[in-house]
Amino acid sequence: MTEGQEIQMGQEADPEIVASMGLYPSESLQAYVQELGTELAATTERPDLPWTFRVLDDPLINAFALPGGYIYVTRGIMAHFESEAELAGVLGHEIGHVTARHSVNQISRAQLAQVGLGVGMILKPELQRFEALASVGMQLLFLKFSRDDEYQADELGVRYMGRGGYDPAQLSGVMAMLGQITSESGEGPPEWLSTHPNPANREGEIERMASEAEVTRDPPTVNRDGYLSLLDGMVYGENPREGFFEESAFYHPDMAFQIDFPQGWMTANSKTAVQAGTSEGDAVMAVSLAQGSSPAEALSEFLAQDGMEGGQPSNAPINGIPAASTGFRVTTSDGVVQGRVSFLNHGGTLLRFLGFAAASAWESQGGAIRSSLESFRPLTDRSKLDVEPARLRLVTVPRAMDLETFLEREGGLDRAGAVRNLNRLSGNASLAAGRVLKVPKGGTLPGGAP
Ligand SMILES: [Zn+2]
Repeated sequence: MTEGQEIQMGQEADPEIVASMGLYPSESLQAYVQELGTELAATTERPDLPWTFRVLDDPLINAFALPGGYIYVTRGIMAHFESEAELAGVLGHEIGHVTARHSVNQISRAQLAQVGLGVGMILKPELQRFEALASVGMQLLFLKFSRDDEYQADELGVRYMGRGGYDPAQLSGVMAMLGQITSESGEGPPEWLSTHPNPANREGEIERMASEAEVTRDPPTVNRDGYLSLLDGMVYGENPREGFFEESAFYHPDMAFQIDFPQGWMTANSKTAVQAGTSEGDAVMAVSLAQGSSPAEALSEFLAQDGMEGGQPSNAPINGIPAASTGFRVTTSDGVVQGRVSFLNHGGTLLRFLGFAAASAWESQGGAIRSSLESFRPLTDRSKLDVEPARLRLVTVPRAMDLETFLEREGGLDRAGAVRNLNRLSGNASLAAGRVLKVPKGGTLPGGAP
C-alpha cells in the first residue's frame, strides 16, 4: 500500500467515525489535542502526513489510530488522564502505530465500511444478526494488533514523548490506570488491552524504556494542573440527553421521543441509531435518522432497493405523528427477510423505524415489532426531557482527610468508584490538603458508568 492509499483510507473513514461517534463539542479541547498531537508528530519519521487529532464524544476509555495519520481519543480516556504528559504518551503510542505502519496491515476496507452502518444502513445480509447491529460503531476498528506491534508502539510513544520534552515515565501511569479499571470491571479499552491481558507487565517495560529515553527538556514536562483545568465541566459517563433506557422503555430527551421495545430484548444506543434484538439474533429493530423530504418519499426510496418486495403502503399517523409504513420481504444472499418499516416526521425530523426477522421467525416476532413501532410517541414527561449528564468538576481537598469524609462533604458517596478510578485512588485513601480531585457532579449516571 502506498502512502497515498494510506492517506485516502484515513480520509474516507474519518467522516464516518465522526458521524457515528460524534466529536466532543468543545472547540478549545479539540484545538488543544490537535496542537499537542501535531507537535509530537512533527518529531517523528513521518512528519508530513495530514496528522489529525480528534476528541470523540464517547464515555468509553479508548484511543485508536487510522492509516494516514488520523488519531482519536475519547472524552472517556481524557477524563482519566492525570496530566498532559499522559495524553502525550497515548497520542505518541497511537502515532507509533501509524509511523510503523501497523494499522495498514490490519484494517481492511470491509472493516472500515462497517463503521458507517448506522448512518445509512440498508438491509444487508450481515445485519440479520443482532451481533452485527451491536457492532455498529467502533467495535470493528478496535483492532487486535500483535503483541510485538503494541510493544513497538509503546517504544515509539516513549521516544516521541522524550522528543516533545515530556516525561516518558508518565506513560506507565496510564497503564496503572487501565490496570485498576480493568481489574475492577473486567473490561478495558480493546485497542489497548486486547493483546495485553496484563497492563502491569507493560507498565514495567515502559518504565525501563522511559529510564533510557532521551528527553529534550529539563525538567521534563508533566503539566498536571494545566491539563486538569481543561477537564473542568467536561461531560462524564453516558450522556442521557442522547437517549437512555429504563428497562425496555427508551427515552430520547434531545429528540423528544419515546418508544417501548419488546421485553427481554437486548438493546443498544449510539449516536446514529437505537437498536434492539432478540438474544438469538433472529429479529432486530432500529430507530435512526432518515433522508428525504417526506415519509412517503423516503418509503418509496426504501422500497426501490434491489430484491425488495413491498406491501401496500399506509399513510396512517402513528400516535399523531405523520408516517408512511409498510410490510416488506427482501431476498438476500443469506435467505429471505421479512419486516416492517415506517418513516415518521417527528417535529420536522425524519426518522426511520425498521424491524425485521428471518422469514421463518417473522410469525413469532412480527407482533412484538409491530407493537413496539406503535408505541413510538412524543416525549412530554418533564422529568425525562430535562435530564442532564454528569460533569467533571475540580475540587480542592480543603484539609487532610480520608476519601470517605471527602465524598460525604461533596455529596458523592454513590460515586465513590468513579472518583477512585478518575483519581487513581484505592480504598479509603488518605488525601493531603490542597490536592485537586476530579469529581463527577450533577446529572445522573445511567448506563453503568464506572
Ligand atoms: Zn496500541
